[in-house]
Amino acid sequence: MRLSKYILPTQKEDPADATVLSHKLMIRAGLVKKESAGMYAYLPLGFRVLQKVTNIIREEMNRADGQEFLMPEMTNADLWKESGRWDLMGAEMIKIKDRNNLEYALAPTHEEAFTSAVKSVISSYRDLPVTVYQINTKFRDEIRPRFGVIRSKEFIMKDAYSFDLDENGLDDSYQAMRKAYRRIFERCGIETIPVEADSGTMGGSNSEEFMVPSEIGEENLLLCNGCDYRANQEKAEFKRVNSEKEEAKSLEKVDTPNIKTIDELVEFFKEDSTKFLKSVIYMADEKPVMVVVPGDREVNEHKLKNALGCLELDLAPDSVVEEITNAKVGFAGPVDNENIRKLFDISVENLCNCITGANETDKHLVNVNPGRDFEIKEKFDLISATDGDKCPTCGKEMYVKKGIEVGHIFKLGDKYTKAMGVSVLNEQGKSVTPLMGCYGVGVTRTVATIVEQCNDERGIIWPKSVAPFQIHLIGIAKKAEEISEVDEIYETLLDNGFDVLYDDRKKVSPGFKFGDADLIGIPIRVTVGKDFFNNGEIEIKLRSSTDKTNISKENLVEKIKELVK
Ligand code: ATP
Ligand code: MG
Repeated sequence: MRLSKYILPTQKEDPADATVLSHKLMIRAGLVKKESAGMYAYLPLGFRVLQKVTNIIREEMNRADGQEFLMPEMTNADLWKESGRWDLMGAEMIKIKDRNNLEYALAPTHEEAFTSAVKSVISSYRDLPVTVYQINTKFRDEIRPRFGVIRSKEFIMKDAYSFDLDENGLDDSYQAMRKAYRRIFERCGIETIPVEADSGTMGGSNSEEFMVPSEIGEENLLLCNGCDYRANQEKAEFKRVNSEKEEAKSLEKVDTPNIKTIDELVEFFKEDSTKFLKSVIYMADEKPVMVVVPGDREVNEHKLKNALGCLELDLAPDSVVEEITNAKVGFAGPVDNENIRKLFDISVENLCNCITGANETDKHLVNVNPGRDFEIKEKFDLISATDGDKCPTCGKEMYVKKGIEVGHIFKLGDKYTKAMGVSVLNEQGKSVTPLMGCYGVGVTRTVATIVEQCNDERGIIWPKSVAPFQIHLIGIAKKAEEISEVDEIYETLLDNGFDVLYDDRKKVSPGFKFGDADLIGIPIRVTVGKDFFNNGEIEIKLRSSTDKTNISKENLVEKIKELVK
């Protein structure tokens, strides 16, 4: 490809709306162009990378016996109603109508569509297992699209779905996908950590996310120093360390004028935050519930949602809190408050002589003791593990690392097959419901993540496997006969099957050409300039190193063959 004819709008300045490096570099290197908030066009160079990543994914899916489909993006409302998700998907799902007023969703995911497609072609155990997939656009009306294509409203996902006769089969399909994912990300040149993930109300350890460690990651990962326990904070468990029991003192009510938050209380009482009980009131599927956790801890809303088995969870509005506590917001507590369901974190029962809100404006209770002053009927693990907490497996300390989620694998069980009436006859001729797994890779997010990981101060450094071109040929020639000599080298490289971007631009300074080469990050740079016309020497430089080697025209092809291997 001749650069003189190529659309490659590189730029020196960072775009004003970009806060993360990959976003800046993807715009500056002319890979993508913003169309509107959360919507990006892939320009030729970016599209090449996208295709490279796509091909790796496709090869690994096919290797794991996945069968490629291409599904409609407009998914019929009836499908979603069948699974019960039409009303549950929330505002992230974009709904549209056609001219006949028929309703559709611009697919944010394709469980229903694939379940329906597979339903029509399986009838017996002989038809299973099957794994189907596609590489296609997804639409999600994200509240806050950000970081360029890392969180966009329209993005490309590889989504796969497996169908098996029983648990063992599902486990095999899941493990096959897990293996494929490890290979995909390794081939894309990025380091990923599979972590245990929240699997929603279905429970069990049957969901893992593939995380790329990164400061800009939106997920918190808990990693153990002692063993290979790794989990998303949404799910991570930890060993509780019980403090020594003190003797219970007698309950007192004290004035705490306008002292509400844990920080204000710590200051006021001169006590450690662990001495307090935090009582937070939520609306769970529109019913109020009080959650009581130690004062130094945050409520983990994923764990809470799972404990309650609810679909919607929001903090209760002030008016509800005031009605339930009979006080201003900031004075809620579990003592003498029978008009609300209360959930306690498991560590609360081991605390003693705590301080809590008194359900009375400007009052707190001191020396509150669980069991004596309030009853614990429902207790669950409801708080987030954090830096320094003990690993649930080996007891060593864990630490938090931030990560970008690039993939997610999940055992769904019979949720969709049951709801959508899929059944097959087993070997005994009995009708059974197949079990599903689903497996997603954020393809466009993976591209951005590669950029986020592979760069230096001058630009992107593409891993060979996903680079838009193999060779960046720079011609520094003015005279017509010199230009035709570089053209000839370009043709030779093409004849040998290399993928070459040829910077044949006239009136562009060598410095500018080298700058662009560093910015767009093609692995091998080949320069044909003065040294060649004077001494027959062609310069070869890898983007990933500062070393340069000179080589004759005769040895060029062999050398490059060696380098691209
Ligand atoms: P997130 O928590 O980041 O919103 P998710 O849990 O909603 O992700 P899944 O439904 O599991 O994501 O989708 C599979 C993959 O699709 C994710 O692992 C991620 O790589 C990618 N993905 C999800 N949402 C977006 C988005 N808005 N933009 C780009 N990629 C996305
Ligand atoms: Mg999401």
